[in-house]
Amino acid sequence: MNNVPAYLKSASLFFDFDSTIVSGEAIDELAEIALATAPDRAARVANIRAITNAGMDGSMPINESLRQRMDMLQIRAHMIAPLVERLHQQVSPSLLRHAAILKNMRDQIWIISSGFHEWIDPVVAALGLRVDHVNANRLLADADGILQLDPTSRCATVGSKARAAASLGCAPPRIMIGDGMTDFEVRSEGACEYFVAWTESVTRPTVVANADIVAPHFEGLLAALAECLA
Ligand SMILES: [Mg+2]
Repeated sequence: MNNVPAYLKSASLFFDFDSTIVSGEAIDELAEIALATAPDRAARVANIRAITNAGMDGSMPINESLRQRMDMLQIRAHMIAPLVERLHQQVSPSLLRHAAILKNMRDQIWIISSGFHEWIDPVVAALGLRVDHVNANRLLADADGILQLDPTSRCATVGSKARAAASLGCAPPRIMIGDGMTDFEVRSEGACEYFVAWTESVTRPTVVANADIVAPHFEGLLAALAECLA
């Protein structure tokens, strides 16, 4: 099935990126790259993963989770290309199975992520989605060449995903699809009508408990939306 089903024709789909469009978390992957030669690599990568998870399950504010991880990593420009290479290999399998329909829906699909354009844009473009529909953060090199959060970034603060979603001006029905509590906030702040907990890569109990729909893959998402939107 490559055509957009009738029940989705007027819908807008807001996709999270990490653990949703791709199966992993980009900053965790970046930790593997950045700390490849560090003697205490395993412990530091595990620490960064724990902070990622705390941000995603809502036990740590997203801005704090992002700041702590970036401080620990010291991201440099040469790390971006190998990261993008890894992420291209990690697109969620069910999205790859339905790449044709996703491409046909590209005008009604938006990506809203607390990650960074520097690696989200190339992955999204390869899937046939619109780079100008990506709402994310940007990196800015400091005097030492370390990439820091650009202070003008859109999605780096608590509630910023909801504000980004609201600013798009899409008409209902709007559906937010993601694995984290920051994705649920889009629903709780009234910037979408349905929140879908995406569990293809990771299942977070606090997120699932708040979801209108739980989708283990794209087929499950379509089946559930067919019922809700019919
Ligand atoms: Mg996510």
